[in-house]
Order: sequence, then structure tokens, then C-alpha cells
Amino acid sequence: MERLLEVKDLEVSFKTYAGEVKAVRGVSFNVDRGETVAVVGESGCGKSVTMQAIMRLIPMPPGVIKNGSIVFDGKDITKLSEKEMEHVRGSEISMVFQDPMTSLNPTMKVGAQIAEGLIKHQKMHPKQAREKAIEMLKLVGIPNAEKRVDQYPHEFSGGMRQRAMIAIALACNPKLLIADEPTTALDVTIQAQILDLMRDLQKKLNTAIIIITHNLGVVANLAERVLVMYAGKIIERGSLDDIFYNPRHPYTWGLLMSVPTPDLDKSKRLASIDGTPPDLFAPPVGCAFAARCEYAMKICYERYPEDFTVSDGHSTACWLLHPMAPKVKPPVGKGV
Ligand code: SF4
Ligand code: MG
Repeated sequence: MERLLEVKDLEVSFKTYAGEVKAVRGVSFNVDRGETVAVVGESGCGKSVTMQAIMRLIPMPPGVIKNGSIVFDGKDITKLSEKEMEHVRGSEISMVFQDPMTSLNPTMKVGAQIAEGLIKHQKMHPKQAREKAIEMLKLVGIPNAEKRVDQYPHEFSGGMRQRAMIAIALACNPKLLIADEPTTALDVTIQAQILDLMRDLQKKLNTAIIIITHNLGVVANLAERVLVMYAGKIIERGSLDDIFYNPRHPYTWGLLMSVPTPDLDKSKRLASIDGTPPDLFAPPVGCAFAARCEYAMKICYERYPEDFTVSDGHSTACWLLHPMAPKVKPPVGKGV
């Protein structure tokens, strides 16, 4: 597979009156063309900030990219001019956010919002762009597209607005779609429809997708590969099967145990991971999860664990993988 995106040693901080928040602390990963990669972790783990860095949407100041490179389709994004970046954002990388109401323009017809990028970035004739807008609305499964194209966002239901957002994002045929919690605001049935839609479009258009979510159900539906983030670092990465059937990091175990299952007895509370993530003003020198980890050993507090390879493409930053570490039976997955 051909490499589309290569993020290397990315560090992003925010300068505040109280000090520097180290939001992303050395993140490296790749995405191939047409691939779907999920980034999971609790809020504040740095997943959204990483994606904002890729889009160059981090407000600077207070944000600053302290280190690292982001090579997209052969170009280092950190070195592009704002004008070049605008073109990348308009036609090569698109983003879909959680709440379509905040990203759709309420005063502009939906069709015009789809056409906007086509006219601006692809120099399409307005009439042709309108035709394409109708085609995109059909593609994302909006009925009566010829009529809907002239309606305003408030005339759409929540699920239709999210479909319209996807239509806008995909109209210019981007190479990469970044979806940040794209279904969180929707009810479960609509969520499933939107995920089906994204999967179909991905196959049809061969768009690479990075999906950011804290919901492992979403991951299972869509992703081929998973990156688990904690406190500004990737702490485990692997294929969907690696992460679901052979997870190796205690934080991943915690995430998996908090997945709601369809037959879940509603009287039972969902498991959640006790404790809170560390203060990113002064991240711990050792494993950032140590304070919440029931398996923590002395070394965990003293040294950041190296990335241990589990199998090809599957690795985790946890001292339990060290050959000298005590053997622990994972509470989830099939175990080893
Ligand atoms: Fe727990 Fe240590 Fe592994 Fe961190 S490195 S997750 S503290 S066992
Ligand atoms: Mg977020």
C-alpha cells in the first residue's frame, strides 16, 4: 500500500498562564491511501489536537508545534504557507466534526455549501457545482436531493445534517477524511447508518479515513487499524483484531471493559477506568498510566516504557511486555 500520511515525533504544546500544557508528546504514525485508522482514547488524550495539527488548525499562539514532521502526500505540512495550506484543507484533507450544526452555515443553503469548495478550489462553474451538489446529496443517501439542495440546515434532521457534512467533506474528493467523533451527537440507529455510509463511501472513493472516537463500537464498525492514545502518546497500536482480541496495554483493557454490549443488562453500570489522566503541565517521567494501573511496578514510575513489539504491526508501550515482567492474564480479549 502506498503511504499517504506520515506523522513523526509530533509534539504540540499550549502556553498558558499556568505553564505549558504538553498535549501531544511525541506521536508517530502512518496512514496509507484508502486505509481507515481509528484513534481512540479519553477526552484530553491529545487525539483531537493531533488531528488539528495535521490540518494546521491549532491556534498559534497559544499552541505551538514544538517538534516533528507531518508529511502528507509528499509535502511537509508544517512547512507550507497558509495559502498552500488552504488549498490542502479545501481539496486534499477534509474534516467532519461531531456537531454538524456548528460547522454548517445556518444562513446558507446546503447545496451552496457543498458547491462552495468546488467553485473555489476546483474552479468549477456554479451550475456544474450545483449538479455535483445534488449528486453528492444522493451519494450520501439524502432522498429528494433535487429539492433538498435548496434547503437550509435547519430543515434537515440531525442525521441528514451529518450526511450533508459528509457530502461537503467529500465533494472535492479528498485523499484523507478526518472524522472527529462524527456520530457522538446522534442516536444509535442513525449512528449505525452514518458508519455504514462512511464505510461504503470509503470503498467507492478510496478515501483514507482517520476516525477519532472514544467509542470502541464505532472502531469495530469501521477501522482496519487502531491507535490507542493516552496522555499525549500512542500507548498501543495494532490491527482491529490485535486490539480487540489480543490487547496488551492495561489502558486498552480498561477501554475494552467499558464497551457497552447490546445485551447489556441496563441495571448494571458500565465499567469505567478509575482515576483521571495525569496533569499535562508536568507529565510523569515514567508510564503516564501508572497512577491508575493495577499492575504498576517500580520501573513504571521511573522510566517510560519502550515500545514493545507484540507482532507485525502490533506494539505497546508497557513494561508488562518486558521479558522479566511478571506474567499477567488480560481481563479482556482472548489473551495469550
Ligand atoms: Fe501499567 Fe506499568 Fe504497563 Fe504503565 S507500564 S500500563 S504502569 S504495567
Ligand atoms: Mg476531542
